Order: sequence, then structure tokens, then C-alpha cells
Amino acid sequence: MSLPDAAVAQEGDLAQLVSPSNKIYFVRLEPGGELQTHRGVVRFDDLIGRSWGSQVSSHQGSIFWLLQPGLGDLLMETKRNTQIMYPKDIGYVLIMMGIGPGQQVIEAGTGSGALTIALAWNVGPAGHVISYEIREEMQKLARKNLQRLDLSERVTLKLQDIRDGFDETNADAVFLDLPNPHGYIAQVRAALKPGGFFGCILPTTNQVERLLPVLHNNNFAFTEVCEILLRHYKPNYDRLRPTDRMIAHTGYLIFARPMVSDLDVQPALVEDNISE
Ligand code: SAH
Repeated sequence: MSLPDAAVAQEGDLAQLVSPSNKIYFVRLEPGGELQTHRGVVRFDDLIGRSWGSQVSSHQGSIFWLLQPGLGDLLMETKRNTQIMYPKDIGYVLIMMGIGPGQQVIEAGTGSGALTIALAWNVGPAGHVISYEIREEMQKLARKNLQRLDLSERVTLKLQDIRDGFDETNADAVFLDLPNPHGYIAQVRAALKPGGFFGCILPTTNQVERLLPVLHNNNFAFTEVCEILLRHYKPNYDRLRPTDRMIAHTGYLIFARPMVSDLDVQPALVEDNISE
């Protein structure tokens, strides 16, 4: 099967230009547009219609590779003022919370909008993300990050403290990335559809300890606590070995589901996730 349209850069596409020193530029391929770099100017009209993966050159003859960006590239490129969520954690969150096309998803706080971008990407044009934040400057930055990627239409940014609750009900999923989620579990419950997906990320075990009994007391079940360890390798085929350093800790991920019936019959605690 050949995919002629998908194989070449089209007008309006988001593209990634990579220099030999691995400097990455993200550009939207508008006709007549250009990218100015210290290695010369790259004209977008020269890129539109070119095959993805090809080498292109600036007017000074410097080489760039033309690629379609992946979500991971876009996330690491997010302009940030806060700690952002890392792709390793975001990937697992998207899968475990079933984030997919057409869904209504709530998150708080917006921060720099890294998770917001991933949620918006995954819910697609038919879905929607509602993102709460208390700091105006953070919301502004997130708005810019979303606009750069043309994802703004899928997201409503609200400048509201979630202490006062969420405006929405029956959301498919609610995710919290803020220091004290244990203070907002009743609000989360009111916004989530019965049996929906709740998740959050916390940097310390103390915060997790505070959260777990509150989840239990609010009738959340099927609780899972985990962390994601990611080790990169130096991709040298003669001397394949791990990189010397790794990011050892970002945060603990906690997932749980709100139940409608009382938990007088408790589901068994999942203490061993390895199926036999
Ligand atoms: N997930 C984000 C980072 C979030 S940083 C990303 O990937 O980029 C945490 C944010 O939560 C901060 O910007 C903070 O201002 C916001 N926040 C803290 N308490 C809040 C509350 N009660 N309601 C809404 N936002 C809150």
C-alpha cells in the first residue's frame, strides 16, 4: 500500500528541521514562510512536496533533515516555567486512563501545558480537555504552547482554583498534577462519571500516603500506585550499553476509580500486578 499524501510534507503541516549538531526547529509549513538560522535561511516553499526524511539545505548550503515531529519531540520542546510531566509518565497515564478520541478530560493544574498538549493530541478533534489553573502567567504560557501546535480548539483553559470544584460533571477522566490532591478528592468525585478514571502524579511518598486513605474514604477503588523507570542506551552497535546517567525520579503515579455502591464489600487490594 502506498500513502503518497502522507509521505510528503504538505502545506500547513507541522515539521521538524534537525541540523547536523542536532539542533531542532519546529515550523508550520505556510507557503512563503521561512526559517532563519545562523546556518542560513530555509524556505518553506522548498520543503512543501518534499519527502519526509529527506535532506534539505539552507541558502548557504547547510544541511537539515526534514521530519514529522512525534508527540514526544513536541513535549520536550514545550516552553516551561514549571516542572513539566515527562513523556515516560505521560505515556503510561494516557494508556491507563484510556484517553482516546472523543473523550471529555479534566486536568489541574495546567502548569506549562505539557500534559495538556498530550491529552489534546489524544482526544482528537471530537474530544475536549478542560484545564484548571490558579496562576495567570502559567495559563498564558500554556495557551502559547497550545497555539503553536494548533491544539487550542480542543482545550478550554480556566483560571479557577479547584478548591471551589469543577464546573463539569460526568467527565471520562480527571488528572491532578498539583501538590495536595488529597484536598480535592470530593471535587474530583463530583466531576467524574461513575466508574471513570482518576489519576495523579506526586513527587514524594508522604503525599501518596496522605492521598490513599482519602481515596478510600471517598469510595474510590482499584487503586494503583507505581513509578516508571526509563533507562536509555547509547545506540552504538559495537558497544551497546546504557547511558551513564538517568533521570532516577520524577513522581509516583496513582490511579483509582470512583464507585457508586458502598465499599462494604472491598475489592481485593492489588498487591501483585504480575498475572500468572
Ligand atoms: N502537568 C503540568 C505541570 C503542572 S505544575 C505540565 O505538564 O506542564 C502544577 C500547577 O498546578 C501549577 O502551575 C500551579 O499553579 C497549579 N495549581 C496548584 N494548586 C492549584 C489549584 N488548587 N487549582 C488549580 N491549579 C492549581
